[in-house]
Amino acid sequence: MKTIGLIGGMSWESTASYYQQLNQGIKQHLGGLHSAKIVMVSVDFAEIEALQHMGDWQKTAEILANAALSLEAAGADFFLICTNTMHKVADYVTQAVSIPLLHIADATGQQLVTEKISKVGLLGTKFTMEQDFYKQRIINKFAIDVIVPTDKEQDLIHSVIYQELCLGKVSNSSRDRYLKVIENLVERGAEGVILGCTEIGLLIEKQHTSTPLFDTTHIHALAAVAQSLK
Ligand code: GLU
Repeated sequence: MKTIGLIGGMSWESTASYYQQLNQGIKQHLGGLHSAKIVMVSVDFAEIEALQHMGDWQKTAEILANAALSLEAAGADFFLICTNTMHKVADYVTQAVSIPLLHIADATGQQLVTEKISKVGLLGTKFTMEQDFYKQRIINKFAIDVIVPTDKEQDLIHSVIYQELCLGKVSNSSRDRYLKVIENLVERGAEGVILGCTEIGLLIEKQHTSTPLFDTTHIHALAAVAQSLK
């Protein structure tokens, strides 16, 4: 079994889900007392969030690159950045180390292809929805059309992530508002919706909607389990 490196803490609410799902995945494959071999560096999200909203992505890239170096030194065979948004600096981080990154958009794109989705809606932070680093990767590498919510809807999705989900707050009224946004994406032709923020799976689950959901935390964790056992 290979050792999985995690850059976590963004937020720790979703990193906890990763930890659980990685161990469940390994147990499912190997049974008994088996559990995942993991090393983790968990950052202070308050620091990262402030830099994101100030636009100082270079500083966030340096923090994550240092985290990746620590993972490599601790024996990780490959690593995950446990957030969609911070893949904005994935190129810088991968250049700092010699172990490979398991990119969250690649794992997601692969799953979309497997499920024969050709047009998908994307929910995430405003950074993820409005910039190209994430959706363009899915469009270019997997030939899947990616649509995003309206500006106003993006503001809602973004603020619920930072003001509720990353603080561990899960509210029924926010769930209803998210479901409305999902409905609107489906009306515009989305065959499924990417939960492209690692906390959204805490709010929206399969039982809440008939729309196929692509929960990036779950997909990323399962891909890591597969890579670890390869
Ligand atoms: N975990 C979130 C994501 O997947 C948002 C937190 C962050 O900005 O990293 O994008």
